[in-house]
Amino acid sequence: MANYFLDNPDLVTTFDRDVRWDEIVPLSEGPDANVADTVSTWREVLSVAGEYFGSEVAKRAREVDELGVIRDNGRVSLSEPLRQNIKGLAELGLVGLSFPKEYGGSGLPFTVTAFVIEMLARACASTMIQNGIAYTAPAAMIYRDGDDEQKERYLPALARGEISGAVAMTEPEAGSDVGNLSTTATLRDGCWFLDGRKQFISAGNGDFVVVLARAIPGSKGLEGLALFVADHWIDDTADPSRPARETAGARENYKVERAEHKFTIRGSPTCSLVFEGTRAVPLGKIGEGWRGITRFMNESRIGVGIQGLGIAQAALAAAQDYAARRVQMDKPIREHPMIAEMLMEMETTVAGCRALVVEAAALQDAVMHGADERTAWRLRELTPLVKWYGSEEVVRVCRSALQIFGGYGVVTEYEIERHMRDVLILPIYEGTSQIQSLMAVRDLMRVILRHPASLLRGGPTPMLGRARFGGDFAAARGTLVGSLRGLIAGMARRGGLALVRGRRQPTEDEIRPFMLHAERITETLAHLHVARSLLEQAARVPERRAVADRAARRARIVAKRNAEAIASGDGGVFARVDEWARERATPSR
Ligand SMILES: Cc1cc2nc3c(=O)[nH]c(=O)nc-3n(C[C@H](O)[C@H](O)[C@H](O)COP(=O)(O)OP(=O)(O)OC[C@H]3O[C@@H](n4cnc5c(N)ncnc54)[C@H](O)[C@@H]3O)c2cc1C
Repeated sequence: MANYFLDNPDLVTTFDRDVRWDEIVPLSEGPDANVADTVSTWREVLSVAGEYFGSEVAKRAREVDELGVIRDNGRVSLSEPLRQNIKGLAELGLVGLSFPKEYGGSGLPFTVTAFVIEMLARACASTMIQNGIAYTAPAAMIYRDGDDEQKERYLPALARGEISGAVAMTEPEAGSDVGNLSTTATLRDGCWFLDGRKQFISAGNGDFVVVLARAIPGSKGLEGLALFVADHWIDDTADPSRPARETAGARENYKVERAEHKFTIRGSPTCSLVFEGTRAVPLGKIGEGWRGITRFMNESRIGVGIQGLGIAQAALAAAQDYAARRVQMDKPIREHPMIAEMLMEMETTVAGCRALVVEAAALQDAVMHGADERTAWRLRELTPLVKWYGSEEVVRVCRSALQIFGGYGVVTEYEIERHMRDVLILPIYEGTSQIQSLMAVRDLMRVILRHPASLLRGGPTPMLGRARFGGDFAAARGTLVGSLRGLIAGMARRGGLALVRGRRQPTEDEIRPFMLHAERITETLAHLHVARSLLEQAARVPERRAVADRAARRARIVAKRNAEAIASGDGGVFARVDEWARERATPSR
């Protein structure tokens, strides 16, 4: 029987030696709390959770995947093993771990729950997403923006795992382009009603849903939006202090039209919801929906990075074990240098992803407790990179694991093919990798255009510029700065110096080269931050030196590859884009 905390030396070392608990404990437990006692209790929680995940949840993961979502007479529900997993989580108090104590939770900081999420994702990615989206996410939104009545109505029941919710933003015509949503909220006789359709809603078959809708008629884009809570069932005779259940007297308030058939996170119901005169109650202020959903998305982007870390850890552990046992050409395959290199690359990614996640989680805790603007900017800088690295690099980890398993990698008896399928959702949901890249690069451009001298003083951001590491790290950072200087110089040639000095905003046309190369820049930024984070850890934990050096070497190689691609121009892409745009503008005969 595995314990997913105690069997993982890197995770234990991270908990014992990397986290600044003296800064985290007072945030959640108050200034007088005993740091050592509190940390010891939290460590015990992780050990209990690790035992449950490693022994029970991991054992049921294949069945959760095989059974998928249950569809019965138009009704969508969870499979029995997934229900058992959630029941077990609730019984151990793990569902409400992050919920505030006054609403039945344990009030644990995100830095601790990040360890729990990683271990749960390692055991079963479907269970992890069900726990995150059906309970933690709506609870966090209701706690942040809800009134007292809403908090009392939903939070304690969510913490006990008795009811479940969902968060509905995406629509058939509004995926990455959220501002294009068309679900409306209308006020009639003092009540709000929703009309529209939501697509791809994880756990959308639950008891209620938090919905993003257009609440100010005539508003456009991201203006005029608001969040609403809509219960699935309405029963005027039921106890009003909690959402109604499906009973003979209850009526359906919105329709769960279907759950998608999919090859990834198969246990998690991905639902289409139809709202027709659906009764709903505002969550927060009308017109501030975008702000609310952005805060949710930023938190859940780090959550997706952690999900990636858990899946990567599962794939790495399986590949390490297999490569030590599988003998070909008279030796275990891990002694063949190409396989050894793959395993070392995987180890580096997992350690780097964990370092970045733990750093972002600690920043998130600080920001939630009112940290200064500089801390908030550091979190903002890391968030899309955690999501990007925890998705794209983790896909590579699973791909290597599959390769290490050879033919057995594609056989469903082994768990690697499930990891390979599950991991492919990560670059898509909670903002695709391209959207993360656009976010990271737009922020980077803002910093550079406001302080162009940052590209002369080390740069490109204060966080990276301040890192005092030489060798491969400095070389990688210098290469990225060189690429950015080249892009900025091109912009100045086309748009004039006023643009570069920040006297006017660049047009979409002028920033095209940045947008084309956004994912290359993001990849280099992510590798640089991983190397920085691991090198900082190595100063405290000397055993991390080797993996930190490997990450820095990789950052240098990635930076060079991307710099060459950026310097070689657009490769005809802009001509093709212009041609397609002309085609669209020309009415067909
Ligand atoms: C299993 C699953 C679970 C989900 N759960 C939820 C949920 O619980 N709640 C919810 O609200 N949503 C959920 N989603 C929706 C998910 O967040 C969206 O699928 C995602 O945001 C992408 O939107 P889209 O699928 O419409 O793709 P599109 O936005 O149409 O994108 C298609 C492609 O174009 C690219 N692209 C789009 N715009 C640009 C651009 N400007 N520049 C460069 N490339 C661009 C994208 O990166 C992508 O590669 C879920 C989706 C899935 C598949």
